[in-house]
Amino acid sequence: MYDYVIKNGKIIDGTGNPWFKANIGVIDGKIAGISKLTIVGAERSINAEGLIVAPGFIDSHTHSDSTVLTNPRCENHVRQGVTTNVSGMCGTGDYKVEEFRNMAQKKGIAINMAHMVGMNKIRELMYGGRDRTRWRVIKSTESEVEELKKMVSQAMEEGAFGISSSMWNMYSEDILELCDVAVSYGGCFDLHSRGNDGQTLIEGLKEGLLIAEKTGIPLNYSHLYARHPANWGKTVEMIRMIAESRKKGLEVTCDVYPTLLCMPSNPIALFECQGGTMSGRIHSYPMPDKTFEQMMNDMKDNETYEELKKDLDKCYEKEAMLIHEKREKLPFVAASAMPDVRNLRTQYVVAHSKSHPEFNGKYINDIAVAMGIEDPLDALRKIILDDEGTTIGNTGAFREEDLIAALKASFTSIGSDSSVLDAPPPPERLGSWRSYGSFSIVLDRYVRQLGILSWEEAIRKMTSLVANRIGLRDRGVLREGNWADIVVFDPKSIKNNATWETPTRYPDGIPYVLVNGQMVIDEGEHTGALPGKVLRRPM
Ligand SMILES: [Zn+2]
Repeated sequence: MYDYVIKNGKIIDGTGNPWFKANIGVIDGKIAGISKLTIVGAERSINAEGLIVAPGFIDSHTHSDSTVLTNPRCENHVRQGVTTNVSGMCGTGDYKVEEFRNMAQKKGIAINMAHMVGMNKIRELMYGGRDRTRWRVIKSTESEVEELKKMVSQAMEEGAFGISSSMWNMYSEDILELCDVAVSYGGCFDLHSRGNDGQTLIEGLKEGLLIAEKTGIPLNYSHLYARHPANWGKTVEMIRMIAESRKKGLEVTCDVYPTLLCMPSNPIALFECQGGTMSGRIHSYPMPDKTFEQMMNDMKDNETYEELKKDLDKCYEKEAMLIHEKREKLPFVAASAMPDVRNLRTQYVVAHSKSHPEFNGKYINDIAVAMGIEDPLDALRKIILDDEGTTIGNTGAFREEDLIAALKASFTSIGSDSSVLDAPPPPERLGSWRSYGSFSIVLDRYVRQLGILSWEEAIRKMTSLVANRIGLRDRGVLREGNWADIVVFDPKSIKNNATWETPTRYPDGIPYVLVNGQMVIDEGEHTGALPGKVLRRPM
């Protein structure tokens, strides 16, 4: 007796092969049969006529280890068809994988986690706090490196899939040593490049490729994007470099998120810097000690506004100094792979303005020119006031041509760079469209509407490509014996609803999602089932 039979669907198996019609039977969490013939004897039969049946999506890049224990239903991801998260990316994953597994299993989680240990996290743990390492590049001593290597070993022995790094503050030599440990266990390396946010993208990628070459570790380059106008167009060169390296025999992939902006922010938070840094400020909104009304009053009052602006400029100066200091100290090719700080003050984008829609997606220095206002920050203030504080902003924009080039490359996977959540955050906290739409945007806009990718190719980027990258052998492809992580969606009606105006809306057109053979989304609704697992890297 099958638990489920999904019949008459168009099967897209995750390998990139063209769809075929077949029925799928599920027993005890596994795919027990895929057949052109009728599969009889099922507890429940689902008619997938006209629908696509695909492997559950594997989100190639997440930070869900930080949220899954408190958001076990994983609504924002599972409603997009995501059944596994690669977690602990950008250097942030803890090394105590078994402890994480025990806690998750005890509580129950809706989807699977494939965890990466984070270089930056273990350094913080070793130093006993964030401050010493966050903004300073510190070469670890020999004994410190030994301690870090032990933590990586423990994580790998407990089933981590590899090691991740943000690289903002680490010496390349230290990274090499930790990669050596991870690769000895068959692990992979995920790199958030130093040049990601700056004008030295190419150098940042070069550093990653050099590490892959020296250690032989499979490299995944995170967030293939070209942020800020000075970088637009560079994606093509980076894709060429990766393709070239692959030809030489280096195992290199990358992940991409399909949105044209990073995390949304309320620009009002910029002016409340209180000595922090730019990303610190926008991420700490709303302020713990100031109400929205107080912040709006600050903006309205000329004197207070001028004071805030002075403060903000001091912050920019400090940030520029820190970045300069990092540039000075960085070894290897990364010495130049830091953001160019000259334009820090004007690198802010208005993502959505109700009173000035003509400026949506524009940088504040361009907006200032168009408005005839000398200081870009004054232009931003005018928009904030005209919008009555509802403006949505961002610290940098991408160009769609770059995104399309990245999506088209054969070795890019889809990674949301977000975390699982049970419910959208309150409006004043601003949700990210990445968390709610990374998969539905690709299927809706880049497959269904624009035809940039075929269904088969898009699904491959969300399934087997990621499984192969991290070494998962029994997921990511619809095949008998594999785990029954399955998504069923309607290619005619799949619709992304996570837009600039409504960043936290779930998509439409995804009626069924099974995780480990259990129905988590049934006729578009969450069943409350929590069948997910913290996976183990196969030995
Ligand atoms: Zn990340």
